[in-house]
Amino acid sequence: MKIEIPQNVNKIIEMIQSAGFEAYAVGGCIRDSIMGLVPHDWDICTSALPEETLAVLGKTNIVTNGLKHGTVTVKFVDGLYEITTFRIDGIYRDNRRPESVTFVGSLREDLARRDFTVNAMAYNYDRGLCDYFGGENDIKNKIIRCVGDPDKRFREDGLRILRALRFSARLGFEIEKKTSDAIHKNADLLKNISAERIASELLGIIDGDYTEKVLTGYADVICIFIPEIEKMIGFEQHNPHHIYDIWTHTVKVIANSPHGKISRLAALFHDIAKPECYSLDKTGTGHFHGHPERGTEKAREIMKRLKLDNKTIDKVCMLIKYHDVRPEVNAKNVRRLISKVGVDNFNELMQLKRADAMGQNPDLLDEKLEYIKNLEELFYKQTADGQEYNLKTLRVKGIDLINIGITDGKTIGRILKHLLEGVINGELNNSHNELMHEVRVYTDNGKNN
Ligand code: ATP
Ligand code: MG
Repeated sequence: MKIEIPQNVNKIIEMIQSAGFEAYAVGGCIRDSIMGLVPHDWDICTSALPEETLAVLGKTNIVTNGLKHGTVTVKFVDGLYEITTFRIDGIYRDNRRPESVTFVGSLREDLARRDFTVNAMAYNYDRGLCDYFGGENDIKNKIIRCVGDPDKRFREDGLRILRALRFSARLGFEIEKKTSDAIHKNADLLKNISAERIASELLGIIDGDYTEKVLTGYADVICIFIPEIEKMIGFEQHNPHHIYDIWTHTVKVIANSPHGKISRLAALFHDIAKPECYSLDKTGTGHFHGHPERGTEKAREIMKRLKLDNKTIDKVCMLIKYHDVRPEVNAKNVRRLISKVGVDNFNELMQLKRADAMGQNPDLLDEKLEYIKNLEELFYKQTADGQEYNLKTLRVKGIDLINIGITDGKTIGRILKHLLEGVINGELNNSHNELMHEVRVYTDNGKNN
């Protein structure tokens, strides 16, 4: 196995080696290289102690150093590189990060403390691939397998459970039976992991190309930190639009959504309130009245718990709130929808609607896609001239009203709102003169004084 190490990475390795230490590229970069993917970063491990690494690389730019954990970060020519001393982790308290680390002399020991065989390989040009745990073979067979006893490894660090799911969802690898059994068995350990670490892995899991299989096979694991999902699993919808239960549908919507945090989170939570909004009518058809609104509340609560940032939460909630609107396709309705969701969010909403439709009854899919396409076409027409159907693009501003003697703030607000309504309804053109004319008519009628 020949791996191409970037020149600068190799330079660092050679500098450390020429001072008499071992150094290797290690972990994810080796995994990705073997798979023919481009690694997003290159980590280095070495027998040199952090101080020794610092001494060797003295002239390069040391950015930070997590000396305690044995990691030195250097800025070398074009990027940041983490150089970590061979180590084994100390005691794990509460299945969290280790309290301390112990530096060790051998590469093998360092690789043995790593989570999965595919992540436990190192490489340099002198020794070639160092693969003590069958990582290369597992990559060939597309398998995620713990290094050592899975049960023990997950008990050391519960986050590894989600890391396994994330790698499986991203790479399309099957999780080996013993590892998989240990994941289900130890899922409760996630209760001890911080919300931030969980959220970061969750985002990786739902953003994978192979997320459908993972979310289907490991829903029990996700339910440990989002118990709201439990009720969705197996919940039959009894509705001609649906052939899947709520969770199966949700997973398909996620998989059919564009990549990206916002789109995937919106898909994950769009039907979160369906179970509690369920009712069965006389004909035996299921309905879910109010689920988008209730869904935004629940999703907000969950995302807050996961410590996601407010901007993300707001945007995801907006998409959830409007995911089920189905206005008749005409310019007026599209303008109104734009004014509600905003020009910047319209496309994402349509993507969610498209993914939603793709997770429903396939017999009705074509007409739903056609409908969404028609909405989109009208959206482009209605916004071609830069109009956003909000006060920002309205061609009369507060100052124009002040200039003609209307100075009361509330009145100004009411008039502007009236004008915007007129533009959205199509009763008024968004032209300065026409709107100012309307201002006069509107105020002369005495409606505002
Ligand atoms: P990615 O491409 O997502 O960065 P990665 O494999 O590089 O994947 P990192 O989180 O960057 O993952 O970790 C680098 C390496 O450190 C891993 O390949 C693995 O060998 C080891 N590692 C990281 N986290 C853990 C953990 N929780 N337990 C054991 N080993 C870990
Ligand atoms: Mg990495």
